[in-house]
Amino acid sequence: MAKENQTPMMVQYQAIKDQYPDAFLFYRLGDFYEMFNDDAIKGAQLLELTLTTRNHSSKNPIPMCGVPHHAAQNYIDILVDKGYKVAICEQMEDPKLAKGMVKREVIQLVTPGTQTDTGVGNAKQNNYLTALTQTDEQFGFAYTDLSTGELKVTSLNNFEAVLNEVMSLQTKEIVVDQTVEADVTSQLQKVGILISTQTDTEVKAELSYLTQDVQLTEQQTVLNHLLTYIVTTQKRSLAHLQRAVVYKPAFFLKMDHYSQRNLELTQNIRTGKKSGTLLWLLDETKTAMGGRLLKQWLDRPLVNRTDIMARQQKVAVLVDQYFERNSLQEELTQVYDLERLAGRVAFGSVNGRDLIQLKTSLKQIPKLQHVLNELPQTTFDDILERLDPIDDVTEVIDSAIVEEPPLSVTDGGVIKDNYDATLDQYRQAMHNGKQWLAELEASERQITGINNLKIGYNRVFGYYIEVTKANLDKLPEDRYERKQTLTNSERFTTPELKEKEHLILEAEEKSTDLEYQLFVKVRELVKQNIQRIQSLAHAVSELDVLQSFADVSEKYRFVAPTLTTGGHELSIEAGRHPVVEKVLGRQTYVPNDVAMPESTDILLITGPNMSGKSTYMRQLALTVVLAQMGCFVPATSATMPVFDQIFTRIGAADDLISGESTFMVEMKEANEALSHATANSLILFDEIGRGTATYDGMALAQAIIEFVHDHVHAKTLFSTHYHELTVLEDSLKGLKNVHVGAVEKDGELVFLHQMQDGPADKSYGIHVAKLAGLPDSLLQRADTILSHLETSSDQHATVQVVAAQQQHANQPAVESEPVSKTEVPVTPVAESTIQVTETKHEADTQ
Ligand code: ADP
Repeated sequence: MAKENQTPMMVQYQAIKDQYPDAFLFYRLGDFYEMFNDDAIKGAQLLELTLTTRNHSSKNPIPMCGVPHHAAQNYIDILVDKGYKVAICEQMEDPKLAKGMVKREVIQLVTPGTQTDTGVGNAKQNNYLTALTQTDEQFGFAYTDLSTGELKVTSLNNFEAVLNEVMSLQTKEIVVDQTVEADVTSQLQKVGILISTQTDTEVKAELSYLTQDVQLTEQQTVLNHLLTYIVTTQKRSLAHLQRAVVYKPAFFLKMDHYSQRNLELTQNIRTGKKSGTLLWLLDETKTAMGGRLLKQWLDRPLVNRTDIMARQQKVAVLVDQYFERNSLQEELTQVYDLERLAGRVAFGSVNGRDLIQLKTSLKQIPKLQHVLNELPQTTFDDILERLDPIDDVTEVIDSAIVEEPPLSVTDGGVIKDNYDATLDQYRQAMHNGKQWLAELEASERQITGINNLKIGYNRVFGYYIEVTKANLDKLPEDRYERKQTLTNSERFTTPELKEKEHLILEAEEKSTDLEYQLFVKVRELVKQNIQRIQSLAHAVSELDVLQSFADVSEKYRFVAPTLTTGGHELSIEAGRHPVVEKVLGRQTYVPNDVAMPESTDILLITGPNMSGKSTYMRQLALTVVLAQMGCFVPATSATMPVFDQIFTRIGAADDLISGESTFMVEMKEANEALSHATANSLILFDEIGRGTATYDGMALAQAIIEFVHDHVHAKTLFSTHYHELTVLEDSLKGLKNVHVGAVEKDGELVFLHQMQDGPADKSYGIHVAKLAGLPDSLLQRADTILSHLETSSDQHATVQVVAAQQQHANQPAVESEPVSKTEVPVTPVAESTIQVTETKHEADTQ
């Protein structure tokens, strides 16, 4: 539509909309937020609203839909949860007083990463907004949670590292600048992250203290962009933002996001939810902030032994002191979300109820101090030091705010009596006035003889005397002045009533105004203490996570692991996978040892499908994660080194981004492990090589094992179907065969889930196929083929095997760097004819 045909309102709308092209504009019109044009069409569909039009009589009616302002938050949340942005445009003046068009402005841009009202269900989850900048060698990366004020920054070497950070933070939105390559942003988009651009670097002077500890240019730049983006979208006080903390991924146990996902640390692979994960098992936290810290610790186990031991010692004390632990839990239950309360104080959106929550929480602090002081040891001294009850804040709230305040802070009823003398006077006046009205009603009834005469109040007409029509003739003429006529009654006023009305209303108005001013003062005082509240919140969350560790450790019979200071002994007795055990039940789960003395680097695990090989590997990974978070571990005893990294290749390989074949992903992950693992790392490879033809798969598996054995020396669990590989035990002194036991009982296969020394005697594939219900005739046929193959093995076939092996190893697809450097040795291979047949078959069809 041409501009000249537009109403002034639509001109104003369009001018504002032009500033927010990528957001839904919620345009305030009286009691509604309206959307127009494309926003309306798309919004109506997404929010299931009725689409109407404005100016329907004109040639080009404008599509329109709207939501009532009091229900707007729900609709905003729906859109933002779906990954959209919403610009909230308010009327900046009273329409009744405005001359011409009402002034309107966008007061906030709500985006997926800046959403702070994330609902009760998400209390234990952080909502991270991230930011990225790129230089020739580095990425600058920063993140914040606007509801808590946490702000962190780091430098990352490559895109993989960026991806690991964004995946483990589960960010929904990333702010990038013009330095970030299109390739990078498109990959981030593919994993479902909203890209927002920010190119201004001018950070408001009052926020510059946030970045004062930051030295590197890329970190400064990325923080500047992040902060500018927050300032321009939020347009509200950010007093709760905490000074940027610089971190390095090397401070923590390194694990890529595939491993984190595959081990189901915080997210169930099938459902994406928390249920069935390690987090789910570990979470006995009593506060929302403790719940969030637990997830952070789980995402980032430690690598510094002293730091780990500091946590473990606290857990040990709480495991022993059952009574104190119980008291702590009880006291913590009454602590509200101090971190997010501090955020709301800064935003100016706290109400009386929030302040009461703050007070209730602060009153728990002396109780927590008391319990910790009861403990015999001094282990908790560092937490005790930070448990500041912030008495001055408690006292002010206690004296000022009523115990059960209303939701609104502008309608009065928030401030206690005896807090402010002037307020008390107004209240006295209101009280006297009301009493006077009651007396007036009684005396008027007496004078007129009208028993149902009553005194009432409404907003438009003020106080009135109401008389029913039937009784009108009883009223003396002179004193009553008519105010309003209703169907069955008339309303009057009198000179005295008018005078009192004025006094009462004035007192009421002054009283609510004053109450609001007093409330704001209290809020400001709290605001000055935001930093104290935040550091208290940290201490409380830590205590909460530690008690949760202790609780879980006792409940599931965990033990304190011994972390060695040098050397590489890894020895776990009766270890368990805590989540599988919880699901299967304690009676069913079979505990297993991991015996890897200094001299053993590699366990080669054989055994039938479904016998428990990958569970055994995951169990070790979880045990290491638990130990390095400072928690106890599911075993009867455990001695282990502190690992620097965990590499895993377990379960189905799926690549979220490139859509590469399973085998390619598998090889990439193997390469990642082989090129970055150190002697202090843990490698878990589950059936590497199964994604290709048997022979080159087996050749690669062997070469990988040898590479790890000769060059990497990392502790490695390697499960395989290739029984042929078990002979490696003879040539590789750091390799030991283990297998998962299974027995045949009456022709049926029974899994023992028990790790035993030595190689498995056979692979039981046909038994597993039988369990899966394949037809009997087919199974008999498979048996016949197998026995034929097993008896016809000859020397000639072995020679062919080796030839095939070398040929495949030279193919480009499998030439990943470190692997290709290692030569495939000619090892005598048993049962080789099976592979010959399969290799030929693969070659035919390729
Ligand atoms: P594999 O990797 O050998 O194919 P999995 O590790 O996937 O086998 O285990 C298959 C199933 O066996 C698991 O889903 C679990 O129910 C059960 N299982 C595994 N380990 C144990 C154990 N130690 N005790 C009891 N059941 C187990």
